[in-house]
Order: sequence, then C-alpha cells, then structure tokens
Amino acid sequence: MAEQQIPNLDGNFYRNLRKYYPTVDRGEGVYIWDTDGNRYIDGSGGACVVSIGHGVKEIREAMLKQADRISFAHGSHFTSEAAIECSEQVVSLMPSPELNKCYFLSEGSTAIETAVKLARQYWREAGKPDKFKTISRWTSYHGNTAGALALGGHTARRRHYQPLILHTPHIEPAYCYRCSFEKTPETCNLECADALERMLKYEGPDSVSAFIAEPVVGATAGALVPKDGYWQRIRAICDQYDVLIISDEVMAGVGRCGQNTALDNWNVVADMVVMAKGLSSGYIPLGAVVVKEKIWETIRRGSGAFVHGHTYSMNPLAMAVGAAVLKYVKEHDLVRKAREMGQYLLEQLHTLRNLEIVGDTRGIGMFCGVEFVRDQTTKTPFDPKLKVNAKVFQAAFQRGLITYPGSGGADGIQGDHTLICPPFIITREQVDTLITLLREAIETVTQELYVQGA
Ligand code: PMP
Repeated sequence: MAEQQIPNLDGNFYRNLRKYYPTVDRGEGVYIWDTDGNRYIDGSGGACVVSIGHGVKEIREAMLKQADRISFAHGSHFTSEAAIECSEQVVSLMPSPELNKCYFLSEGSTAIETAVKLARQYWREAGKPDKFKTISRWTSYHGNTAGALALGGHTARRRHYQPLILHTPHIEPAYCYRCSFEKTPETCNLECADALERMLKYEGPDSVSAFIAEPVVGATAGALVPKDGYWQRIRAICDQYDVLIISDEVMAGVGRCGQNTALDNWNVVADMVVMAKGLSSGYIPLGAVVVKEKIWETIRRGSGAFVHGHTYSMNPLAMAVGAAVLKYVKEHDLVRKAREMGQYLLEQLHTLRNLEIVGDTRGIGMFCGVEFVRDQTTKTPFDPKLKVNAKVFQAAFQRGLITYPGSGGADGIQGDHTLICPPFIITREQVDTLITLLREAIETVTQELYVQGA
C-alpha cells in the first residue's frame, strides 16, 4: 500500500498531529475502503465500536425515516416514539427487571459522568449525604472529560492534565498476566477484589458512593478478563458496605463479551450499567446509563429532578438509530454470534503465542487482545519509546488490517498491546485472514526490533 503523502491537519486535533491519514470512502460488513481503493478488514470495529458491521441498510432506512419526521426536539420539551422504543430495547438487554430506567447521552465519557453524579445525588436524597467518593482502578479507562479522566487509571492520558483532575481512590486492577499480588491462577485468592474492601476501610465506607470498573478492561490493557469469582466478590463487598456498582460497559457491553451485558458472564447485576459504542454500532454518537429503579425512585420522591442534562440527550435521530441497531442485533442473533465466533477468534489468537514478542493473548467474546513483551519468560515490556504498539498497528494497517493499539501508559508496569475486536458478523475465513495478517505484521516488527538492536 502506498505511503500517504497528503497531510490531514484540517479536520480534528485527534491523536497524532504529525501523522498522515488516508481518507475513508465507504464500508460494508467487516470491510472499509479508502478513496485510493485500498480495502481494510476492520479488525477492531474502529475503537471497539462497530458491532453489526458497516453499511447496514436497515440502519440507513431507520435514519431516513426519522429524519423525514424530525431530527431534533429538545428533551425538556418532548419525548419521541424513537426514544421510547430505544429505551425499551436497552432495558430488554438488562439482566434484572430492577435495571429499568435509562438516561441517554451522546458518548461514553458523559455517560460515565452522569452515572457518577446520579450515584452522588441518590445518596444525598437517600439521607446519606456524606457518601460522595467513587473508587476506581488503575489500568482502566473511563473517558477523557475531567471527571472521567480522574476515575481512569491510564497514566499517560492523565499525565498532561494531572493538576486539573480530582484525586480519587484507585485500587489495583484484576490483571492476571501481571498480578500485583504476585499470585498465579492456582494460588490466587482474589486479592485484587479484596483490595476494594481494604480501600473502603481506609477511606471510610460512609464516605463512598460507588465503585466503578470495566468488567473487561479495554483501551488500557487489551481485554483483561478477571478470574471467575472476582465480580461476585466485588458485588458482595459493595453490598456489605452499601456502595453502588457502576459497570462501565462502554466497550464491553451490548453483546461484545458474548452476553447482553458483560457482567452477565459472571451473573452479577450492577446498580448502573453504562453503555455507548455498540449501542449504536457507530452509526451515530450515542451513550446511555441504565439505573436500578430504586435510584430513580429515590430521586423522584426526593427533590424530583436529577440536576443534569445535555443538549443532545435523547436526540430523536440518535434514538431511532439506537433502536434500529438493537433490533438488528436481536433479529440476527448477533450476541450468540459474538460468543461463538469469539471463541474461534481467541483460539486463533492463541496460535500467535509462539511469536517471540507475544507475551499474552486473552479475551472473551468478540473482545480480545494481544500483549507484547521483550522477554516472554520475565514478561519484561519494551521500552515505551520504541512504540511497539504503533509499529504493529502500522505494519498491520499497511497490509489492510485495522487494529486498536494501546500502551496503558504505565511505563515499565505493563507491555504494549493491541485490541482485536471485529464486528460480530465476521466469518471464520475472515478471522483466518485477520490472524494471517496480524502474524505477518508482528513478524515484520520483530525483525525491525532486531535490526534496531532492541
Ligand atoms: N469507558 C470506556 C471503557 C471506554 O473504552 C471509553 C472509550 N474508549 C469511554 C468510557 C469513553 O467513551 P467516549 O470516547 O465515547 O467518550
């Protein structure tokens, strides 16, 4: 594929201002084409966004139908048929009838902020005004707005803005490949879950409103799946100390982990579930928080208003797209496909473990990752300056495969990684091609690193 020569600095300050980007043309199924005619397999659904595939006609039709009626009416003036339908679809994904009230936003970060504010207001109205802290985890990501960034544990993303973000308590992640407690799967007694209880005791449980975490960690570490029992233990601790669980399913939700909600994998019911990405499969910006009725009801009977709001909440066009995407997911049994094809994808990813720089391959459903290391035995990461994740991304991209790279930014603590999370409709043959291209890309980078003496 030819090197792109045209600078693309006129759009957005998004990511690397010194890099050149090809111009996207169109998409269909798992494929994207650029305007030079190059075809790419979307091996990461963008940033773990596209679940139903590109170019689905039913979504286009739902968009047009809504646009023909009305595209915008403010949520403080009207509801819409689309909003009612979208809410019903979202609530139908929930594992418990208690989780039955939705609040819609335009993306993940504002949905996270909304959940945290809701938790805080809930406790005030429930007569426990001292409960305001949110405990989160290192090696996590909850968004780029200041509140969400404070809760996240992605050190590189926080670094520039550190003085502007609140200091909040963070506990160790559930990172089995690099256990903070130096345990193995055999000796593990879920010490990382017990860390929450310890932090609650340090902070004083009467001051803690919520615990927020990604059921499976995405952007910071490449699909960290906790050991069975972790989430059950977290639920028990939160129940004991009267702390709400906010499940950040912005990446992991809406079928991505092979179940309707990611926590369904462990039969755990959160108090709030935050979703975005797969909620609209990228067809329109959309996020949502679903909360337990007791939270909504306490606020309704108390002050009667959640003191919050965004201009595009419940935007009719976004609601129509959300409703159409969720209907499509159901009608095409895509959650089961994510679960079953995800197993095949993970099996195939495991075959890359014989490559010298692959430290770990992991995942659940259509949410998988590869961690790169300089030494497989000691698990020593590469020097972050080598930007191994960016190198693998580039080598794959040039071969027509899109991946979603990351480093977590916790220099020296973890390796570079890449997320592999294609649309749920990917076929076995397409998975095979994806793996072949990824293998070639990793082999090429390994050679480059040798040449560099790294
Ligand atoms: N939470 C998680 C787990 C995410 O992965 C992301 C985005 N990658 C966000 C929150 C923030 O979502 P957005 O970028 O839509 O604001």
